[in-house]
Amino acid sequence: MAKLQMSETILDDSDPRLRALNSDWDSKEVPGEQILELLQKMRTKMHEEGGVGLAAPQVGVNLRLFIVEVKGNPRYTGMPSLPFQAFINPVIEKFSQRTGLFEEGCLSVQDCRIQMRRPKAVTIRYLDQYLRPRRQRLKGVLARIVQHEFDHLEGILIKDYLPVEWQ
Ligand SMILES: [Zn+2]
Repeated sequence: MAKLQMSETILDDSDPRLRALNSDWDSKEVPGEQILELLQKMRTKMHEEGGVGLAAPQVGVNLRLFIVEVKGNPRYTGMPSLPFQAFINPVIEKFSQRTGLFEEGCLSVQDCRIQMRRPKAVTIRYLDQYLRPRRQRLKGVLARIVQHEFDHLEGILIKDYLPVEWQ
């Protein structure tokens, strides 16, 4: 069983690992302690880079998990604080009909901010940072960040939403 190797730097959009298939975490393949360790390392990296979310493929780990945390972030001033949360093996079960606009950036896509329209709320099933199964309806900024990070698990980057000639 290979030990999880996290990249020292956040991958940029030319890296094929951002486009690779991501697998669900399976405790028979990777022990829970290694996942908890990875979450902590990702959290440190996210703080260093000033992100509000970080998905495992962005640090070269092709597993379906991401983290979210907002506290006084200089890249997104005025964004309400959100406690640290991990979403492991997430499944979005439902999207709201109502949508909203929000300007998104991405640590893997330099100098790019895009006004993105997305559903305002989602219902999501996942394992949390204690590896406990949870199901929640999320709205507001949290629903927004979660949808952005979930895209990373599908190999999708924000610039993919731009017209081809701008990508
Ligand atoms: Zn991103």
